[in-house]
Amino acid sequence: MHYDIIIIGAGLGGLTAGAKLAKEGKKILLIEQHDIPGGCATSFMRKQYTMEVGLHEMDGLHSRDLKTKIFSDLGIFDRVKFLRVPEFYRFYNTRHDIVIPHDPAEAMNILLKSFPGEEEGIGTYFEHVLNARRITAASRDVKDKSIGAFLDEIISAEDLKLVLLGNLGYFHDDPYTLSYYYYLNAQGSYYTGGANFVKGGSRKLSDALADIIISNGGDIRLKHEVTGIIYEEDKPVGVRYRKTRGSDGIYSDRASEIIVNSSLPLLAENLLPAGRGQELKNAISGLEIGASLLTVYYGFKTILKSLGNKYYSTFIFDESVKNQADIAGNNHSDFDRRSFTFVDYSQLDSALAPEGKSVGAACCIDYPEDWEDLSAEEYKFRKKKAAEIITARLDNLIPGFKEAVDHVEVATALTVKKYTLNKKGAVYGFAQKPGKASGYLSVLPANLHIASAWGKFGGGFSGAIYSGYMTALDILRKG
Ligand SMILES: Cc1cc2nc3c(=O)[nH]c(=O)nc-3n(C[C@H](O)[C@H](O)[C@H](O)COP(=O)(O)OP(=O)(O)OC[C@H]3O[C@@H](n4cnc5c(N)ncnc54)[C@H](O)[C@@H]3O)c2cc1C
Repeated sequence: MHYDIIIIGAGLGGLTAGAKLAKEGKKILLIEQHDIPGGCATSFMRKQYTMEVGLHEMDGLHSRDLKTKIFSDLGIFDRVKFLRVPEFYRFYNTRHDIVIPHDPAEAMNILLKSFPGEEEGIGTYFEHVLNARRITAASRDVKDKSIGAFLDEIISAEDLKLVLLGNLGYFHDDPYTLSYYYYLNAQGSYYTGGANFVKGGSRKLSDALADIIISNGGDIRLKHEVTGIIYEEDKPVGVRYRKTRGSDGIYSDRASEIIVNSSLPLLAENLLPAGRGQELKNAISGLEIGASLLTVYYGFKTILKSLGNKYYSTFIFDESVKNQADIAGNNHSDFDRRSFTFVDYSQLDSALAPEGKSVGAACCIDYPEDWEDLSAEEYKFRKKKAAEIITARLDNLIPGFKEAVDHVEVATALTVKKYTLNKKGAVYGFAQKPGKASGYLSVLPANLHIASAWGKFGGGFSGAIYSGYMTALDILRKG
């Protein structure tokens, strides 16, 4: 069959592009290898608990945020309820326990109380973060650097730098290889616009986008994996795909435009014809694949906040992390020392658990090579061990935590890889290193588009949603 547009992958990038294009009257086919849409943006049920896979917080949704415009255009606000996250985060190490609000003026005051000698550095940090767009726009002639280098220039107290980097894991695993410009924009959006959770879990958002595609006449084929892009006369004209399980049959459909939501390395290595794939491999050879995450999902037999926990996100840094240079090594350390975040969804009316119960998630940077080549038993054993260690650390912070746990389950970088097919289980696409440009996209033909964390907007909910919407606008402009 011939479609206007075929989309490979139902992550947020693919779904957003598909929803906009279907709404504008285009005939869409979206093909997804998993049995539910959403990619990282989804949830799963265990006992009576809705476990949120990949959303701690989504920045913005204020009046100037592009996502507000996108969601209004697509009618998302009529279908999905967003809950405001109360504070940005609590930072905890044995030396400091500080709660950072979203409001920048309040955040500055709180930081000044703990670091009174750092008034100038704190002022400079917020001036840059709050003016990220202006600074980035004027950046053409100013070479990018790392956020680590920037913090070293403006601040002396090592612990203050760590506090400001509490949520570094939202973007990358090492401040010395994270682009200053990328960080400013991403972090600035949390300080200028706050953050949100999707009531009932992020699957509600993904399902709403999928529903827009279907109700506008689009086709979504779940449990089907695209195995190749068909070229004729050196131009993409369609895709080959097969059922993820079961039959050996190969299907094909044709389209004028193809949108790729699956990862760029997968596109280069598996989906493009050899020559075109090699061209893309060369173009991305200088880029690094970004970090993955390990998550411990918890179902609690009680409302966790009744144990006295007061905060939504707590970033727990190990005391051995004394300065920025310790962060990257710590992310590779054993779970009894690795820094992690804990999200207590009971702080919001998150609708993820029945009355009197609640859910939470502990999350840290993770690498697939730590789990590969293990026997099934060893893999299971190490996951159990990781959960026990992290649970014990949380029990120290929130007394009664361990006793409240009713269900616990671990997803590693390999789990993310399995459900997204993203190389190395990357959750944010390519690492946003200083000076990273998106020139690699120019080797692609004009009717092959990238809508994902691997595109020019980077990762996270926002990056993927922008990428999807902008891709749709590019195609609509063609007429
Ligand atoms: C544990 C965790 C916590 C996170 N926390 C946050 C957070 O708090 N805030 C935030 O903003 N972001 C967070 N993220 C990151 C965010 O979820 C992702 O960056 C974003 O959702 C990626 O979207 P994407 O469009 O690039 O697609 P992905 O989510 O990577 O999905 C790609 C889709 O394509 C499909 N696919 C791939 N290849 C094929 C093929 N050949 N055929 C068919 N289908 C294919 C996959 O099955 C998948 O559904 C988190 C992620 C994880 C895993």
